[in-house]
Amino acid sequence: MDKSNHIYFDNAATSKVDSKNLLLFNDINDQYFANPNSPHEEALKASLRYQECEEKILDALHLENYKVIFTSGATEANNLAIRGVVSHYKNRGGHVITSTIEHPSVLETFKALEKEGVEVTYLEPDENGVISPNKVISAIRKDTILVSLMHVNNEVGAINDIDAIGEILLLHPKIIFHVDAVQAIGKINCDYKNVDLITISSHKIHGLKGSGALIKKSNIQLDAILYGGGQQEGERSGTLDLANACVLSEAFSYAIGHTKENREIVSPLRERLVSYLLSKPKWYHLNSSLSEYNPYIVNFSLLTAKASVVVEALSREGIYVSTKSSCHSASNEPSYVLLAMTHDKKLASECIRVSFSKYNTLDELETFISVLDKIVGEVYNG
Ligand code: PMP
Repeated sequence: MDKSNHIYFDNAATSKVDSKNLLLFNDINDQYFANPNSPHEEALKASLRYQECEEKILDALHLENYKVIFTSGATEANNLAIRGVVSHYKNRGGHVITSTIEHPSVLETFKALEKEGVEVTYLEPDENGVISPNKVISAIRKDTILVSLMHVNNEVGAINDIDAIGEILLLHPKIIFHVDAVQAIGKINCDYKNVDLITISSHKIHGLKGSGALIKKSNIQLDAILYGGGQQEGERSGTLDLANACVLSEAFSYAIGHTKENREIVSPLRERLVSYLLSKPKWYHLNSSLSEYNPYIVNFSLLTAKASVVVEALSREGIYVSTKSSCHSASNEPSYVLLAMTHDKKLASECIRVSFSKYNTLDELETFISVLDKIVGEVYNG
């Protein structure tokens, strides 16, 4: 297949950069290249532009009394949220709550903290990948200082009820609530008024890699994880990256503002793919939920073929999907997310993640289905 006709269904790993964001990046670097922390007019201009980025992000979510800490991406934002809280509030307690199916930038941070004496409760998801609010209630202890949960799971698209969990945590004002919202922004409705810390990333919403932010309720204090010049009120040292902040804020407000419109593009793709997968019960097992779902991610397991072989065969045809999260795809281990959901090693080993964007079309999906059907059919018929 001609490369210009390739079909990109790996948008949960990263998305195509919108050309207007690239233009903006160049424009800002051209016009506002001064260091916003320097003591002159050009710096002041850059600093004011920086504040506009923060306002744009907070306005998009209708958040008041929050601030934005710009980071090198969601990985850093998750590390900062978790380490920053655990270190700053250690006198309140040393217990935290998360789930077994968080992104590695959350899980690995907690694993490192366990070695430093922090006690971590890992909640198990149900068969749809959802963490029930009741499980959160049961895990709360007197010394709990932090609950960290993702809004939308990056492998299966499962949605946690952040509103309900946030309301429960309002009854425990000493517990800080952190939400990794990377896969939720622009995909589903996002209401974070009961959330203290929100992680976002630019490259999942057609912005640039190496850029993200931690949105923080103003009264929350964080200990820094990077030491340096004390920029961003000491919470994230390093010269401010105005061009990336501008792209992130544009991409963010555009994604939030077009959630409904883009969902209308993506939903028919999801429906068609799911109905195809369900029509072949001997070949496929659907891992994404049929009830409460995010249409951008469809995860299924192959019952008769090896996922790595099928993904490679699709790739040769110019169709790009993932076996599991791109952050773990190098390892041969089964997906820890699917293992926690299904308790079935085979299902967890042979899964495929298809993730859509506003740029995908039904024609592409039909091509994908016919190529997939042929590849899996050949394996099935020997
Ligand atoms: N959290 C989630 C849910 C993600 O999907 C990702 C990206 N795979 C990250 C965090 C890390 O994002 P970044 O690449 O911006 O560090």
